[in-house]
Amino acid sequence: MKLRTTTPSALSQALALSAALSLSSGAAQSQEGSHDWVKAAADGQAAQVIEWRRHLHQNPELGNQELKTSAFVAEHLRQMGLEVHSGVAGTGVVAVLHGAHPGPTVGLRADMDALPIKEATGLPFASQAQGQFFGKTVDVMHACGHDGHTSMLLGAAQILSAHQDQVSGTVVFIFQPAEEGPSNIDIYAKNAQSWGARRMVQEGVIEQYGIQAMFALHVLSSSRTGHITYKVGTAFNSSDSFRIRLHGTQTHGSAPWLGADPIVAAGSVISAMQTLVSRRTDVTQGMGVVSVGSIHAGTANNIIPADLEMQGTIRADNARIRKTLTEALPDLVEQTAAAQQVKAETKVVEMMPLTINSAQLTRALAPAMSKAADGNAKEVFQLLPGSEDFAYFAEKVPGMYVFLGQTAPGIDLATAPVVHSPNVMLDENTLVTGVRAHIEFVLGYAEYAKQLTPHKVKL
Ligand SMILES: [Zn+2]
Ligand SMILES: [Zn+2]
Repeated sequence: MKLRTTTPSALSQALALSAALSLSSGAAQSQEGSHDWVKAAADGQAAQVIEWRRHLHQNPELGNQELKTSAFVAEHLRQMGLEVHSGVAGTGVVAVLHGAHPGPTVGLRADMDALPIKEATGLPFASQAQGQFFGKTVDVMHACGHDGHTSMLLGAAQILSAHQDQVSGTVVFIFQPAEEGPSNIDIYAKNAQSWGARRMVQEGVIEQYGIQAMFALHVLSSSRTGHITYKVGTAFNSSDSFRIRLHGTQTHGSAPWLGADPIVAAGSVISAMQTLVSRRTDVTQGMGVVSVGSIHAGTANNIIPADLEMQGTIRADNARIRKTLTEALPDLVEQTAAAQQVKAETKVVEMMPLTINSAQLTRALAPAMSKAADGNAKEVFQLLPGSEDFAYFAEKVPGMYVFLGQTAPGIDLATAPVVHSPNVMLDENTLVTGVRAHIEFVLGYAEYAKQLTPHKVKL
């Protein structure tokens, strides 16, 4: 992450990479042209983006409840003269910009939701907000940088609106709710509604606007302000949730033979689930994790309860491993419990598929990222352990998801608080790079698309 190259050398590396990938020389030429106007416009607008970000930071809202946030976003998009659609996938907002010249249609996505965390940064604009999280009042904080993502995309929308003459094609600005999950939907309920990116895709956002490629970014504490990193191929693991309910027979703690103990059965079930990864998956294909995160049962020390409930998560970096884990878990759990006269009800809910960066798109647009970051963009090879519902967009059309460093110079990258920490700090100097990244993606994709026929685009 400590890339210190100058713009020319990074650019020449990027161009060499493009050449190696047999992109036409025409594309390389056009990537070479500098977009000085983008840098100038983003620098000129930096204070505005910071002001938006601080407003959003101070007024965070939980997933699916982003009412004030989406009204704020829609209002600003309308002021820019864009065609604005509110109420998409609940609280989402979509805006459309038609460029002055013909060209492809790209989607740029920002997430708007915050987390049930009490902020501890001590910032003058720290959140004091509270919200309802599954019926409970909780403190709310933008601890995952979505305030920054939303303000950067607003910034890009404003600059592109003011420079329509520079835009070939159509840009769809997608402000998405509930990336962190819903705060109001029981995901295990029968016919539970979907949310976030999946709901947007189900509502037909990709087809309705004819989006051909998707772009998004996320701030990252382990990377320096103004630096962009990206991974080709799998960028995030899949994420699925499970809930297991064990039903035994209640009895006195002194006479367990008179009942059926769900707590002892849970011990066996938890151990058995670890064999899914170690014995059932082909670990030459990738990795997987099965973790139990909550377990509840009982009321007193001397009563063996009738019921127990546990919840957990399944992660994988490979679609086949994901399938093995999610499909094999219910049977294993039910039979393990049955061996102890305990009945198990297991529900696995698909949350997020693997997030895959199209290799072709990501390599082709790498020079655009380098331009946005003044040469400080580079490919990384290690996966981060999280998951992202951008995956649903990237399943429909080629997607590119990049990371934007958010840690100021002088702060140790190894110990800087990470996203979801109450102390996480977004260095606002990085916002200008994020604004430029969105714009350079739009400009770069229009050039790239000139040499594409639709069948050439591969996920
Ligand atoms: Zn997050
Ligand atoms: Zn996030």
